[in-house]
Amino acid sequence: MNKEEYNTSYLYSFLPSNAKGVNELAELALDLQWSWNHAADEIWNRLDPQLWELTHNPWVILQTVSRDRLEKNLADPDFLQKINTLVEEKESEYKAPAWFQKNHDNSLLTCIAYFSMEFMLSEALPIYVGGLGNVAGDQLKSASDLGVPVVAVGLLYQQGYFRQAIDKYGNQQAMFPFNDPGQLPVTPLRLPNGEWLRLKIWLGGYNVWLRTWKVQVGRATLYLLDSNDAVNLPMHRGITSEVYGGGPDMRIKQEIVLGIGGWKLLEALGIKPEVCHMNEGHAAFLILERANSFMKENGVSFEVALAVTRAGNLFTTHTAVAAGFDHFSKELMEEYFSDFAKDELGVDLKNILALGRLNRDNNSERFNMAYLAIRGSGSVNGVSRLHGKVSRHLFQNLFPRWPKEEVPVGHVTNGVHMPSWDAEIADKIWTEACGKDRWKGGLENLEEKINKLSDETLWQLRNQCRNNLVAYTRKRLEEQVSVAGQPQEIVDIAKHVFNADTLTLGFARRFVPYKRPNLLLHDKERFIRLLTNREHPVQLVIAGKAPPSDESGKALIREWVEFIQQYNLYNHVVFLSDYDMLLTEHLVQGADVWVNTPRRPWEACGTSGMKVLVNGGINLSELDGWWAEAYTPEVGWALGDEEEHGEDPEWDAAEAESLYNILETQIVPEFYGRNNSGIPERWIQRMRKSMATLTPQFSANRTVREYTENYYLPAAANYLKRAAGKGAVGKEIADEQHELENKWNEIKIADVKSTSVENGYSFTASIFLNGIDKDKILVELYAAAKDGMNTEHIKMNEQQSNGNEQLFFAKITTKRTATDYTVRVIPNYESISVPLENNLILWQH
Ligand SMILES: *Cc1c(COP(=O)(O)O)cnc(C)c1O
Repeated sequence: MNKEEYNTSYLYSFLPSNAKGVNELAELALDLQWSWNHAADEIWNRLDPQLWELTHNPWVILQTVSRDRLEKNLADPDFLQKINTLVEEKESEYKAPAWFQKNHDNSLLTCIAYFSMEFMLSEALPIYVGGLGNVAGDQLKSASDLGVPVVAVGLLYQQGYFRQAIDKYGNQQAMFPFNDPGQLPVTPLRLPNGEWLRLKIWLGGYNVWLRTWKVQVGRATLYLLDSNDAVNLPMHRGITSEVYGGGPDMRIKQEIVLGIGGWKLLEALGIKPEVCHMNEGHAAFLILERANSFMKENGVSFEVALAVTRAGNLFTTHTAVAAGFDHFSKELMEEYFSDFAKDELGVDLKNILALGRLNRDNNSERFNMAYLAIRGSGSVNGVSRLHGKVSRHLFQNLFPRWPKEEVPVGHVTNGVHMPSWDAEIADKIWTEACGKDRWKGGLENLEEKINKLSDETLWQLRNQCRNNLVAYTRKRLEEQVSVAGQPQEIVDIAKHVFNADTLTLGFARRFVPYKRPNLLLHDKERFIRLLTNREHPVQLVIAGKAPPSDESGKALIREWVEFIQQYNLYNHVVFLSDYDMLLTEHLVQGADVWVNTPRRPWEACGTSGMKVLVNGGINLSELDGWWAEAYTPEVGWALGDEEEHGEDPEWDAAEAESLYNILETQIVPEFYGRNNSGIPERWIQRMRKSMATLTPQFSANRTVREYTENYYLPAAANYLKRAAGKGAVGKEIADEQHELENKWNEIKIADVKSTSVENGYSFTASIFLNGIDKDKILVELYAAAKDGMNTEHIKMNEQQSNGNEQLFFAKITTKRTATDYTVRVIPNYESISVPLENNLILWQH
């Protein structure tokens, strides 16, 4: 039985629980489906239009609306009827088979646990910083749409990430408002008897209690942990205060809470996932706890347990630079893992340290969480095609003597949850063209249907979206400058900035140097001429936070604000403060062009540009991350030459020039080039192509289906195979591993001969296997890619044994020369993933 089933009346003690319909209303308010399915909006709007407008948080409305008003509404049969219909519709939708049930109903996969330090689901639940949380949130929502059985695990931060204000001098101010759990759409996770589920973890000599919470995200559930329990020491109560707050000691504690606490939480609920998906290496300690629990349950060693459970772990890396990986000193690891290694895993700490190091015995090497994640996973992937390649380079040193392209890191390109980012009018147009359930299954027919949309419809979409953004910008800017104490004159200007017919550029991202948020300011005079052209003006809305302790990032923000003030550009450039999910929604809906200027290859994927696709926005971006695989001249504009140039200032200058050129000679003329009906035909053509082809491809729907079919399903099958019979296959894997390690150094490729045959060669290799069973290894002919010819791996078959030596043979058809081929020996047993699980390799000299 699932222990989380409890009587809901415990939850809503503050509501008039005897009023009919209250429980249903609470159920609607607590399901974050309202953040993308707007069917219930009118309910919240009716209860309190002002509060709805301000917070977009139904749970807050339910708690704040006057009792009179709530009871009066609930006494209205129409209102009650509406609530009941919504709840019934929701429940029948959740019960009906979705994409996963229709396509993979017979699979062995019953549960994926998705671990992430941050989740960006709604502005009503501020437990995120940016891109990583976006990926987690959007994939969770898509998993719900598709019926993929995901439960997610994260942390409930008391303060989350800082909120930004900009003072009148352009200085960033950081604020940390308290995340009052009572006002967040979360509920305490209670046991059947009503008791709050609390967990105990061992942390550096102390027991730390964790409180548990639940968030409903459509069909999917997100569980959150926090340490702000009254019985904890003050230093422990603050562990879950800020996302990525504090130094290494705070970080390791947070990661222990997430990885080890997270796994314990699943156990306490009786949830047994076949697959654990780590969104970045932060959660990698779960590898240890998952193996720990397998050990205890099956009476096997830690080594065997790890060989079994890693098959069910998937690690997604998001970092494009080695400095981006979390690592901890030996001292910190000793403090938190000495007892754990000895008492829980029954091994020496050095065995654990080895998992996070390049060289297991190097005591000066720090413990790298990405290395642990790789050594504890059955698959590893990057988040775009280019990032997969970059990651193979970053992790190459874990696989010495292996060719770079065989470093075992694949890629699944991120996507965004389109229903969360589409404008109301975009939703309407897409619904008419493709149906209400368009993001809930395969996406085969969308392209064709969007291609049929008329020029008028598409231009109307753009105009309305831009108009909304202009209105929103005015309102928000007015508030922003008023709060900053700006003179009335500026407040009045704010009310009237921008023009609803002007070409609108959007730029919003973290203000960190690699994103080059000031590239557009490279040649200010030229940029001002572009903005203020009388006939063909341009307007730009910018947003972004600099890390609170990063003075250079804050200086970049100040530079923009001073630029606007100094040149009196209020009508053309607006910097909106406090970039968050709500602001993103407005920006990605309203911008005609989304600008992105990272230094290649530092943008692992990037997602903000994907959010404009559904709304008909077009991308102008560096050929980095997702854009490197999305771009063709028909769908947008590209910066860069597909090469890396580091931080070379000359290259920055050249790219700034090219940015202005594209704007001046392509974007502006195309936007303002109108036909007799006032429609920019060439613009619409590009917009249509981008909408039709890129929106499906860069939707989280595609991403989640790809993860499911290429990673989750095989991982589940592999894990279950290894786990059967108390980890019998895992035990064999561990034994083979020892056997090969002991004997590998003595094996020799003694003699290789090739003879020309018709259209190719026949090769023989005589190999001394030092007693290793020939079925446990693979002998291959390897040829590297060259002159347009692909890499080749050809299996050599065993021919005969020749005393101590074994003869292997292959006959190949090829145009290459015989010297292109090299013989190599690699491990091959129990279907392990090579070189991920065993990186031994022997090459012919
Ligand atoms: C989408 C989004 C991001 C990620 O955007 P990138 O293009 O990856 O920089 C960050 N923050 C917020 C608030 C977002 O909505």
